[in-house]
Amino acid sequence: MSHVRRFKDFGWENVPVLAYKEGGPYRSVTRQVLFEGQETLPVQWRYFEVAPGGHSTLERHEHLHYVLVLRGRGRCMVAGEVSDIDEHDLVEVPSLAWHQFRASEDAPLGFLCLVAAERDKPQLPTAQDIKMLCQERSVADFIRA
Ligand code: MN
Repeated sequence: MSHVRRFKDFGWENVPVLAYKEGGPYRSVTRQVLFEGQETLPVQWRYFEVAPGGHSTLERHEHLHYVLVLRGRGRCMVAGEVSDIDEHDLVEVPSLAWHQFRASEDAPLGFLCLVAAERDKPQLPTAQDIKMLCQERSVADFIRA
């Protein structure tokens, strides 16, 4: 197999378009695994695409995310901070920071996301967590759980 897999329509040769994850409160998100990593580089490099109006799961976990917006625009909430994000912006999601990504209503939000190959499972918010997050008005208006 060639070392090059061509890009077309926000997909890549021999990269299947998968469901985002099993279950969970998210809407209109697909996942593509671009690189599975190796012993000498134990990462997984993914491309997620949130359709217009959709959102990822509100979650937290010990592992980090390094994100690069590749397509469209939207907003994200990371650790209680809501930000507009646009093509080529970078987003760092620190360990145990609550986070959620939303596409704008009129454009998708496609982003590359780098994670460690070995990582903990995402935690979903409890009612108490939601209450705590919603003390900040901008977060209350943003999150979908
Ligand atoms: Mn996450």
